[in-house]
Amino acid sequence: MSTNGSGAASRPVGSPGWGKPGLGRNDNPHPVSHCGGDVASVASTDDARRYRTLIEQLPLVVYVDALDAASSNIFTSRQVEPLLGYTTAEWASDAELFVRALHLDDRDRVLAAHAHTHATHQPLSVEYRLIAKDGRVVWIRDEGVIVLDEDGSPLYLQGYLLDITAEREAQEQLRQLALYDSLTGLANRAFFREQFQYTVSMRKELDHQTALLFLDLNDFKHINDHWGHDVGDQVLATIGARIQHTLRAGDAAARLGGDEFAVVVPSIAEAQEAVRVAERLLEAVRWPIELGGRQLTLDVSIGISLGRDVEIMLQEADAAMYRAKGQRDVGYAFFQPDLDTVAAQRSRRVIELREAVQLSQFTLDYQPVIDLGAHEITGYEALLRWQHPQEGKVAPLDFIPLAEDSGLIIPLGKWVLAEACGYGALLVEEMGREVHMSVNVSAVQLQHPEFVAHVAAALAGSGFPPHCLILELTESVLLASGAHTQQRLAALKAGGITLALDDFGTGYASLSYLQQFPVDIMKIDRSFTATIESTTADLVLLRGIVDLGNALGLRLVAEGIQTPGQHEIVRELGCHSAQGFYFGYPEPVARRKLVGHRHAARA
Ligand code: C2E
Ligand code: MG
Ligand code: MG
Repeated sequence: MSTNGSGAASRPVGSPGWGKPGLGRNDNPHPVSHCGGDVASVASTDDARRYRTLIEQLPLVVYVDALDAASSNIFTSRQVEPLLGYTTAEWASDAELFVRALHLDDRDRVLAAHAHTHATHQPLSVEYRLIAKDGRVVWIRDEGVIVLDEDGSPLYLQGYLLDITAEREAQEQLRQLALYDSLTGLANRAFFREQFQYTVSMRKELDHQTALLFLDLNDFKHINDHWGHDVGDQVLATIGARIQHTLRAGDAAARLGGDEFAVVVPSIAEAQEAVRVAERLLEAVRWPIELGGRQLTLDVSIGISLGRDVEIMLQEADAAMYRAKGQRDVGYAFFQPDLDTVAAQRSRRVIELREAVQLSQFTLDYQPVIDLGAHEITGYEALLRWQHPQEGKVAPLDFIPLAEDSGLIIPLGKWVLAEACGYGALLVEEMGREVHMSVNVSAVQLQHPEFVAHVAAALAGSGFPPHCLILELTESVLLASGAHTQQRLAALKAGGITLALDDFGTGYASLSYLQQFPVDIMKIDRSFTATIESTTADLVLLRGIVDLGNALGLRLVAEGIQTPGQHEIVRELGCHSAQGFYFGYPEPVARRKLVGHRHAARA
């Protein structure tokens, strides 16, 4: 190719072809040298036509350049037109076109390579970008040799331009794959570590620290399980883009895998700056996501570590993130040195829990459920307690999540079902009337293939009537449910069992769940009843929920009733039943009779 690097010399004008002034088509004075295919030597013969046809069939551009100062173009094959959009005439007539078409970033390098070949007669081999007539960027591999005459004197430069754009794009894609997360376009874990280490080592201001924020989406599994992986992927991509958006110059973000992200703020003067970054991230993630007409709301827990050592900071931020999970209203937590024992404590607790299951260290308390119309006890809710040998009674929220994570909830839940049905059957017998028994069920239990069989066994073993058994599911059960869960719920319903949606209003489930799932009872979480006496807005909200439940034909149970005033309000609003310390605490022996109105002395 013409490499009129100086931009001063001009190229002879003429139609592109085999010859150039001084190199006759028939009388090529230069026999083929070490480079085969001396085009000029075969001009104007049948061979020449054959060579031309052959050359024009090659998927590349063949060129011959003079070795004059301007590298005047002698010949360029017509494939230059599909490649770059210039006709051979345009290409040959404009001495500086090649130089102008060179990508600015490559120009000096290419001209130097050509000059080197001219000077040394070494083969030319260089890759660069040309800007086509329509502005496209075309990656080229340019291979050329200096053709010598018999005496070893240089005649011209002969070579070809190969389009390697696709190859380069593939290479770039591979590079992206190796360094970036394909879903979000953020750095991947490996690249992040590398970048991060570099950033930290480059920090010169000794009074400044680097902050690492470790983000883990809360309950993301539910989205995947319920809406499918495509929606899950779209959600992750959206979150990735939002995180990217919150960054300021110099900050970096990565997807570490799954639903985990990280953000690095290379230089902060005080911890409060990291808090501001965390708050921006919380805001960005918590903003509702619109997807195909649905609205999803996500939450995230952020662990923050300040320091200078990448590996240590990653571990610390991870530990802090677990602490943040335990304080979701805040959403973030800083690493505290004692946190590294948290993981160890957790595994000790699982071992204790496993032993507790084997040693039957569990009991059930029974809290009465009151019919607000008849003002009498119609049933009980069985609430699990761990009688810990050293710690005494442990509340379910302190060990059920661990039992769920470790799978121990399966044997434990099976025991709860059998025990509650057994006690229910006893109460039916003693009280001489129907008594309902409510049992809480975890999402993990419902996902177990034997769950329906466990329920059936508990009923059969005790003789407790199926229609008296109420299974309480939380919104998370419904969110996590797939086709199998739906089938299991349908089978339970077919067996005459009643299903209740527990803690309504605290989860992420949309109202559509109430119609999708065969629930009969809606238990309104106590957060909606707690303040109805003092806050009008909360009263309005509760009225809305009650109206909705009634419109859907559900039986409504108000949870957490502690005062006569709350009792009065929920009754008047149209709740059917109620539960709460006002009527009775959870107790090891079910209270048989509702004795007048109690006041919540022990709340
Ligand atoms: P839940 O199903 O919503 O149970 C009601 C919880 O509210 C119980 O807490 C109960 O003691 C408490 N409560 C009842 N009335 C009042 C009141 O008037 N005021 C206040 N402040 N609290 C009241 P508990 O026993 O600590 O149970 C907590 C949760 O643990 C339960 O919430 C349930 O989701 C879960 N749980 C309990 N037993 C089991 C079980 O056997 N299996 C499973 N999977 N979960 C269980
Ligand atoms: Mg419950
Ligand atoms: Mg509840």
